[in-house]
Amino acid sequence: MHDDPHDMYLCQVSETVSCGACCGLYNLPNLSREKLEVLLSMRTEAFASVPRTEDGIYEFKRENKGPHRLSRPFLGFHHCPFLGLIGDEKSRVGCLLHPAVPGNNGVDYRSLSWYGEKACRTYFCPATSKLPSVYQQILLQTIDDWYVFGLIVTEHALVAAYFKEMESRLGRHITVSDYTQKGATDAFREFAELKTKWPYRRDDSPGPCNFFFENGLYLRPAVFRKTLDIPPSPYEEILRELDSGFSSAKEIAAAKRLLDDLFLKTERAILENMG
Ligand code: SF4
Ligand code: SF4
Repeated sequence: MHDDPHDMYLCQVSETVSCGACCGLYNLPNLSREKLEVLLSMRTEAFASVPRTEDGIYEFKRENKGPHRLSRPFLGFHHCPFLGLIGDEKSRVGCLLHPAVPGNNGVDYRSLSWYGEKACRTYFCPATSKLPSVYQQILLQTIDDWYVFGLIVTEHALVAAYFKEMESRLGRHITVSDYTQKGATDAFREFAELKTKWPYRRDDSPGPCNFFFENGLYLRPAVFRKTLDIPPSPYEEILRELDSGFSSAKEIAAAKRLLDDLFLKTERAILENMG
C-alpha cells in the first residue's frame, strides 16, 4: 500500500496477509470479519468496472463512503472507500487506487483519495518504528490471516507488553526461533485473537479498531473499574491496551487466569523447544 523504506514491510506481507489499518479499515460500526469481507469484496467487484477517469473515480468514492460515514467508532478518523481486496485470489486487503492493481495500468490514482497521494505513499504507523525488529519478525511469521494481522500489528504497546512478559518469565530476550514451532505460534495467535475475542472489553469501547495516530485525539483510557474494591492487575498494561472494563474483583481475577494460562502455554512450548 505504501512505498516502504523499512527493512521489514508490515503493510503487504504475503498472498493472505496485509494491513490497511491506517486507511481506516476497521473504523466501521459493528465490525466483524464477515461484514468487512462482504463490504470489501462488493467494493472490489464494483471498482473493476469504474472508468479510470477523475469523474469515474470520484463517483465511486461518493457511492462508497455512504452508510457508515456518521456511525464510525472514531468520527475524526477516515474509512477509505478505496480499500478493497487485492492479489490473484483477492485474498488480502489493499488499495484499489494503487498502480499495481490490474485495471489501473500502472497509474497511481491515490492522488484522488481523501489523504492524497503523498500521505498514502509515505505514511507509516508508529508500530513500524516502535516495535523492535524481533517482535515484528515474529508477527510476520506467525499471523497468517489479514483480518487478525491488521488488528494486532498496530498495537505496539500491547505486543511489546506481551513479549516483555514472556521475557520476564524466561529470564532472557525473546528470539525469532522461539516462535518457530507450533505450540508457541498457536499461543501467540491466540493472544492476537484476543483483539476480537476479549470478553472483558469495557462497555463504551469503540471496538477492536485502534486509533494509533499520535495526535492525542482519542487516547486509550485506563482500565475501567466499576467499584473501588477491584484490585490492580499484574497485567495492567495488557488489560489497558485491550480496552478492558471490570465490574467485580471476581471478573478481573478471571481475566488474570485467562492470561496466566496463555503465557504458561507459550512458556512451556518455548522451553520444550529448547530441549
Ligand atoms: S497501519 Fe501500519 S502496518 Fe498497517 S498498512 Fe498502515 S503503516 Fe502499514
Ligand atoms: S487511497 Fe490511500 S487511504 Fe485509501 S486505501 Fe489507498 S492508500 Fe489507503
